[in-house]
Parts: sequence; structure tokens; C-alpha cells
Amino acid sequence: MKVFEKAPAKINLLLDVLRKREDGYHEVEMIMTMVDLSDRIEMQELLRDTIIISSQAGYIPLDEKNLAFQAARLIKDRYDVKQGVYIHLDKKIPVAAGLAGGSSDAAATLRGLNRLWKLNIPAEEMQVLGAELGSDVPFCVTGGTAIARGRGEKLEPIEAPPQCWVVLAKPPINVSTSEIYGKLRANQIANHPSASDVLEAIRLKRFDLLCERLGNVLEEVTLDLYPEVRQLKECMVRLGADGVLMSGSGPTVFGLVSREAKVARIYNGLRGFCKDVYAVRLLT
Ligand code: ATP
Repeated sequence: MKVFEKAPAKINLLLDVLRKREDGYHEVEMIMTMVDLSDRIEMQELLRDTIIISSQAGYIPLDEKNLAFQAARLIKDRYDVKQGVYIHLDKKIPVAAGLAGGSSDAAATLRGLNRLWKLNIPAEEMQVLGAELGSDVPFCVTGGTAIARGRGEKLEPIEAPPQCWVVLAKPPINVSTSEIYGKLRANQIANHPSASDVLEAIRLKRFDLLCERLGNVLEEVTLDLYPEVRQLKECMVRLGADGVLMSGSGPTVFGLVSREAKVARIYNGLRGFCKDVYAVRLLT
């Protein structure tokens, strides 16, 4: 038996950090949605009690450090599954990019193994399992568009933003999420973006307002550390994207574009600047 799952990339339309908690985690408020840029995950049953990971991507760990491996081990332990699984990751999402590639792979592994092993785990229970693997995993289990609070595990689904093009560009640097959160001074954030303003723009289906109201407090840390991310943002604005923001802790910058006629110009302009550029649709 074999199953396949798509693991789409996420972008943050809003990322705010409210405070650093006593347990060391940050209290966040995030509005997240998915884009049509996905890894493809194949899971094949093995009779031997083992987990094997392979991938065409040479730059991700294939052992227990891989989040798909961790998801498989978690579900096996928790539901006492004796069979093993061979997992192949066809990576399309750039790694360490702020697009939750690893988290989405982990979530897709939970969904796929739930089917492969006929475990009938409800989605909410998979989200609770996912929270043990990483803050973005619970959202990736169900996808769609949602507001996340707490560490990212308290999720409330919301309606999808107006459909548009999303141009993504990742400069050739890897950014560590923990480094960026470590350098953030949560009590000194000058401008907090407003989640209720973004929610209102979505509810009113006002693409122009949504573009104006995008915000990510991690930008000030990443843009200072990596000037190429700032340049990339400026470049995307100059090329005419309607709304431009860094996703997650970066370094990927995305531009929302309503008119298809503009997309090719922005895509081609960015290709002169970096190799990893994608023009995709929102996954609504
Ligand atoms: P986030 O937006 O959730 O912070 P990210 O997009 O910045 O995530 P990932 O692509 O998930 O980052 O990769 C972060 C790290 O996780 C990398 O250093 C990578 O080696 C490791 N990793 C583990 N499993 C995977 C996986 N299946 N795919 C990609 N990276 C993985």
C-alpha cells in the first residue's frame, strides 16, 4: 500500500509577537495562508518496524532530524503501530526559507500515515500531536487560512483572502528561526501590525487594504542582519507588487499581485537578483 500527500508552503500575512513568556516561548499572533508551491510526499508501507526517508534534495537531513521522520515516529509510538514506512520527499519548497517546508512535510506525514495505517485520528488530535513537532505544524495539518495564537498552536480558521498571484523570492542565504527570535526584543517593538485590521480587509474582500495592512515584526531583525533581504523587498516594491512582506523569520519575501499582466515583469526582474523565484496562486 502506498499513499501520497501534498505539503504546501505557508506565508504569513501577519506575524506579531505580543511578549516573551516565562517558559521562554514567544506569545504570537499570526495570520497564515497556503500557496500553491508544494512538496510531494510518498509513503509506502514496510513490514519491517523501521522508518526510512529518502529525498531528491541533497540538503536536508534524512535521519531522525527530518521532521517527516519525527512525525512518523511520533504517530507509531502514540498509536502502537508495528509496521514501518518508507517515506520519499520530493522537495519543491526551499529549505530554511520561512515557508514552513519542514513543518508542512511533518503535517502531511501525519495525514498520510493516518490513512495508510487506517488510524482514524481526528484532525484536532493530529494538530495536538503536531504541536509536539513544531509551532507551525498544527496549522499545516488542516491548512486553509487561519489565525494562530499562543505559540502558534491555538488556531481559528478564517475565510480565505481574495485570490491573487504570489511571487516568492528567496535570496541565497539560510536564516535560522531561533536566531531571529533570539535577537528580537519583544518588549521594544515599535510598531505592532494589527490582526483585526488584516481580518477586516479579508472580510471586506478588499485586496488593496490587505496589501496595506500586511505586517511582520521579525522583519526588523532579519532586515538588519541581512541587507540583501531589505534590497529584495525594495526591488519587489519597485517592480510593482501590490503588497510586499517577508514570510516568517525569512529570508523569503513575497509579493501579492492582483493583475496577471504584472506577474511576468516582477518574476523576470527578480530572477536577475536571485535564483529561487516562484510565481504561484494562493491555495484557496
Ligand atoms: P518555518 O517557517 O516553520 O520556520 P522554514 O521554512 O524556515 O520553517 P524549513 O524548511 O522547515 O524552515 O527548514 C528548517 C530546518 O529544518 C532546516 O535546517 C532543515 O535542515 C530541517 N529539516 C528537517 N526536516 C526537514 C524537511 N522535511 N524539509 C525541510 N527541512 C527540514
